[in-house]
Amino acid sequence: AQSKEPKMFIKALFDYNPAEDKAIPCKEAGLGFKKGDILQVMSQDDATWWQAKLEGDGNLRAGLIPSKHFQERRLAVWRPTPVMTLQRTSSKRFSGLRRSFRLSRRDKKTNKSMYECKKSEQYDTADVPTYEEVTTYRRKHGDRHRLVVLVGPTGVGLNELKRKLLISDTQHFSVTIPHTSRSKRHQESEGVEYHFISKNLFEADIQNNKFIEHGEYKGNYYGTSFDSVRSVLSKNKVCLLDVQPHTLKHLRTAEFKPYVVFVKPPCIERLRETRRNAKVISGKDDKTSSKAFSLEEAFAQWKCSEA
Ligand code: 5GP
Repeated sequence: AQSKEPKMFIKALFDYNPAEDKAIPCKEAGLGFKKGDILQVMSQDDATWWQAKLEGDGNLRAGLIPSKHFQERRLAVWRPTPVMTLQRTSSKRFSGLRRSFRLSRRDKKTNKSMYECKKSEQYDTADVPTYEEVTTYRRKHGDRHRLVVLVGPTGVGLNELKRKLLISDTQHFSVTIPHTSRSKRHQESEGVEYHFISKNLFEADIQNNKFIEHGEYKGNYYGTSFDSVRSVLSKNKVCLLDVQPHTLKHLRTAEFKPYVVFVKPPCIERLRETRRNAKVISGKDDKTSSKAFSLEEAFAQWKCSEA
């Protein structure tokens, strides 16, 4: 009986030319490809050399390509062990757009640690881009919307963009509700600003990898759960999420199939200009107008960079 072809597809994240590869046992047997090509993996029996076919060019020839592990091993600059955590420098919720990279888990001044996320065996191996497993997908009637993840550099107004999209069509878009272990304030309601849960439950949920990212502020935990994304998608809405790029590794899954939108920063002149303006306005007493201004600006910047 004819053996069934394995249906594993990978996307190449690097260019490969067997003619220039000193390690390949036989150059003629190698299969060259370009970054972005889709390859069908025919055999992973050998730990060093996989057999693969190039998708889509009608070429049925299978050839040797370096295995993921081998490619990583020969090119990797292995990461040092500390996990980089990202922290917001401002305590203002969501308006604290100035974020900075710190290598410590906790900021001594603000006693805040933010944006940690679990490690990923698939991605936290090396800094070398090799292959990414992919699968064909056609949206069928009745399929859920896919997650939309917004990423971008600090200060481009990702959260403002998210809010603008949300209010532009609340039937179509929605956002996640974060969890916190802090107690509910009198004007807040469960499931509106936050899901309020106990510290113990929060810690158990961290252990059980329930969070995309989580952080600590003034002795309380805050975090965005995978279930909060599922909850939005189950209502057949587009879930908008702005996260730090290091959490993407947990979201690029067959379940979420996210559209990842990189929001380009405005040019430096524009950035200087808007920051100067923002400073002038925030000098005024009227805080509301200052906020309204920066919202408009962030959105305008985004539209600018889109164009
Ligand atoms: P508050 O207790 O005033 O509502 O929020 C305090 C801090 O929690 C804010 O500075 C905000 O940045 C942070 N925070 C709110 N939601 C989340 C979240 O989902 N994840 C993380 N890491 N921090 C959050």
